[in-house]
Amino acid sequence: EALTKNFLVGKTVWPGSGRTLHAVDEISLDVYPGETLGLVGESGSGKSTLGRCLTRLYDITAGRLTFDGQDISKAEKRALTSVRRRMQMIFQDPSSSLNPRRKVRDMLGEVLDVHDIAKGTAIDERLAELMEIVGLRREYLDRYPHEFSGGQRQRIGIARALAVEPALIVADEPVSALDVSVQAQIVNLFADLRQRLNLTYVFIAHDLAVVRQVSSRVAVMYLGSIVEVGETDALFGAPRHPYTQALLSAVPQPHNRVRQGRILLEGEIPSPLDPPKGCKFSTRCPYAKPLCHEVRPQLAGDAGHHTVACHFPLA
Ligand code: SF4
Ligand code: MG
Repeated sequence: EALTKNFLVGKTVWPGSGRTLHAVDEISLDVYPGETLGLVGESGSGKSTLGRCLTRLYDITAGRLTFDGQDISKAEKRALTSVRRRMQMIFQDPSSSLNPRRKVRDMLGEVLDVHDIAKGTAIDERLAELMEIVGLRREYLDRYPHEFSGGQRQRIGIARALAVEPALIVADEPVSALDVSVQAQIVNLFADLRQRLNLTYVFIAHDLAVVRQVSSRVAVMYLGSIVEVGETDALFGAPRHPYTQALLSAVPQPHNRVRQGRILLEGEIPSPLDPPKGCKFSTRCPYAKPLCHEVRPQLAGDAGHHTVACHFPLA
């Protein structure tokens, strides 16, 4: 049983142009309990928009989003408050969700209080527990955000998200701003927390090595559409969509015995305002045939294992 089921269209206004585009364009995607679903694609592919649609930070213009069996596509403020307790976002820069003038104790304490998770002395107990969970000393509760390193600040951001005891966490580039050595620690923390707290993640990142390490399944986006979804080993080992193949070929893969040469894509990424007719990848695909320029391929294959949206998938 899927935790979330989506068929989404999300429109955003293109800055300056006043035009709207389908940043998330008829995406159909299930997220299963306990999994880490990696979401990859170049910048502008719609990953972040999809993440914000899933957590209803952005409105969904068409389609359906269910969470835990409940249709939340059209949920209004009050209903969303209770849903938000169960789905949280973590961002690249935790500072955006941390008030620089408040001690960690006050920030997190308020979250616990507002959401009725703990009151009075139980708050202190829960705060100490949260710090332990994210690997920080409890004395740090009396510090301000600027007194932490980048990695520690992300741990605070994670503690803030965990304070409401969510089931689903959508993490948007949570380690991209960190030094490589710190990245590994935070990635490990995510893995530990998933097991310990029974969490489900949607993990958005452009770093394919990180995604490969943390994800049990991976979805690849191109111009607002999902072009391939598969179990991590299957997708990285034998990508079936030409775009996935090109994306992966750009990363050195020292563990693979067969090293493919880098596949360079011809041409620019088309404007999301004016995506190509038929397959959106057809203007850059080395395998495009006439059909590709006419008919948009839909995701097909073994749902839950490996699906691909291509008329001529790679064997
Ligand atoms: Fe390439 Fe055609 Fe497949 Fe699109 S549908 S990825 S253009 S082969
Ligand atoms: Mg982004």
